[in-house]
Amino acid sequence: MNKTHQIYIPYTIIEKTLQLIKKYGKKFTEGFVLWVASENSDFYKVKDVWEPKQQNSFISYYIPEEEVHKLNVKIYKKKLILIAQIHSHPSYAYHSQTDDDYAIIHLPNLFSIVIPYFGNIDNSEFFEKCAIFQLKKNHWKKISKKKVKKTFKILKEE
Ligand SMILES: [Zn+2]
Repeated sequence: MNKTHQIYIPYTIIEKTLQLIKKYGKKFTEGFVLWVASENSDFYKVKDVWEPKQQNSFISYYIPEEEVHKLNVKIYKKKLILIAQIHSHPSYAYHSQTDDDYAIIHLPNLFSIVIPYFGNIDNSEFFEKCAIFQLKKNHWKKISKKKVKKTFKILKEE
């Protein structure tokens, strides 16, 4: 992915993401979803939120290998890209060692978003409250609020 591209996210995607994540939060477990996007000449647009089969606990999630394989086949067939993996934490948003080790996204410049408080945040404060990491040379680097603002643009209507 080109690092200067902007990413457009319909507001409904933010709503759906937090709805799914809160569903896991109600069971006191972390939850995991993916944003899939289409690539245009100079931007990406998030098209959908995918909820893979997963095993969850209060402090972790696990996506079985065969499910990761299925997702990769599906994304290839639909000519979309997995632009971000998103998961929740019981409290603060950070990237743990486990998050680094079990990331299912391995392409440079793609994103990992961590949602705090099991997703109990307002839709409107999504990008202020979440911690956003970008894969740089096999290392998940936290990106600054300034860069988040520049990169992610919420579309109020589709
Ligand atoms: Zn985590």
